[in-house]
Amino acid sequence: MYFRSTRGLENNVTSAIAIINGISKDGGLYVPESFPNIYSFLKEKKNLTYEELAFEIINEYFTDIDDNELVDAINEAYNERFTVQVKNNFLELYHGPTCAFKDAALLFLPQIMKRAKKICNKKGDIVILTATSGDTGKAALEGFKDIDEFRVVVYYPKNGVSSIQEKQMLTQKGKNVKVIGINGNFDDAQNCVKQIFGDNSFKEKLIEKGFTLSSANSINIGRLIPQIVYYFYGYFELVKQGTINQGEKINVVVPTGNFGNILASYYAKQMGLPIDKFICASNENKVLTDFFRNGIYNRKRELILTESPSMDILVSSNLERLLFEASGRNSEIIKDLMTSLNEQGTYEINDQMKEFMKDFYGNYATKEEVYNAIKEVYDRDNYLIDTHTAVGYVVKNKYQKESNDTKPVLIASTASPFKFSRSICKALKIDIDKIDDFKVLDELSKSTNNDIPKSLATLGEEKILHNEVCDKSEMKEALLSYLGV
Ligand SMILES: *Cc1c(COP(=O)(O)O)cnc(C)c1O
Repeated sequence: MYFRSTRGLENNVTSAIAIINGISKDGGLYVPESFPNIYSFLKEKKNLTYEELAFEIINEYFTDIDDNELVDAINEAYNERFTVQVKNNFLELYHGPTCAFKDAALLFLPQIMKRAKKICNKKGDIVILTATSGDTGKAALEGFKDIDEFRVVVYYPKNGVSSIQEKQMLTQKGKNVKVIGINGNFDDAQNCVKQIFGDNSFKEKLIEKGFTLSSANSINIGRLIPQIVYYFYGYFELVKQGTINQGEKINVVVPTGNFGNILASYYAKQMGLPIDKFICASNENKVLTDFFRNGIYNRKRELILTESPSMDILVSSNLERLLFEASGRNSEIIKDLMTSLNEQGTYEINDQMKEFMKDFYGNYATKEEVYNAIKEVYDRDNYLIDTHTAVGYVVKNKYQKESNDTKPVLIASTASPFKFSRSICKALKIDIDKIDDFKVLDELSKSTNNDIPKSLATLGEEKILHNEVCDKSEMKEALLSYLGV
């Protein structure tokens, strides 16, 4: 299997190189040459563990990595650290060390990168640069901490993440990690990271000093491919639970930010998984809702800070990969669209691409709708969902009402409700006025009779180990100063 850039400059790239580079030299994203159809093969294999299923799927793509090495990478990533459960049609993706779905990809990425680095015979340290809207940062720090010959630098919007998310990052242990707050929003941080990646002379200078920059954002193909696994796993669980018959079509609902998670479900369908519609759920930052309605992507609007901060995004990077498929893999079209997005802040896709997008439904949820959904699901099913998942639930209801489509759904549940416990308490009308976020965890636990996930239960007492804050204009300098060059 080889990879190519959505913008046409590179093709026949091996997975090891694509994983190490993160982003193509032309600014495009790496995509696989094809999507092997292995659903029919997998459905005959009953009772695969998550790790075994992961091997079957990932091995179709990362073919230059030795089978035994891939097995080791998967086991080191997931064994006893991450599990997926399906409850009430919710695909719970948050049973990992950071309590959010990004663990699935970011526990795996360091393991595969370590091996890719060996294959590419890369010398020196790889510096993982990440802009985070909250969850990626912590998951990257957890995944890469203390891995030899890697460093992790995480930029986060100082006032754009929850206090629990912030504390998770600021207490991060490890000899190779750095966390920096930015006076700006997530898009500022992400744009600056993108600009650093696009600055070839800056990167050359770092390479001379023994540092190669790479990315852990969901644009890295090493992060995207392992996300395909949980859609297969979730589907087979629904079959096992008797909710659907093998081969029956389902719709997937995905609370969406950077478009990585939902894109993985699209890739799963290309591999044969019986998915009909992709229901793309946004919060008030409804760029994608508008896009799926009229084919116009328009980032020219104020970013709204919501209670689902991991989805507070105006530029969903992974959409470029879907556009690439929609255009019939036409790099010229993609280059034009991305230039337009950069220069005008907007683009419109052509009619053929609009037709392609018919499998996608976009809508959004307001704060009030999210609160009502959390309360409704709890009162009815005694089941807690977080604010991101609630966005998905609201949009699922809107879709079903508009379409009368009664196909079973799989709703990606992307974070533990305890990670956003203040919002959950407000939604459930649990009185938490004037108590700090860590006591709120206890309140939520007591009132709903649910256990606090272990990693969050002890967070309150942990020591702050990072305290640097800088302006968005100073991000490069902050990086250089951390690396000591
Ligand atoms: C990152 C994240 C999302 C959005 O996922 P994308 O792959 O960026 O679309 C949704 N919910 C939570 C909790 C997240 O951390």
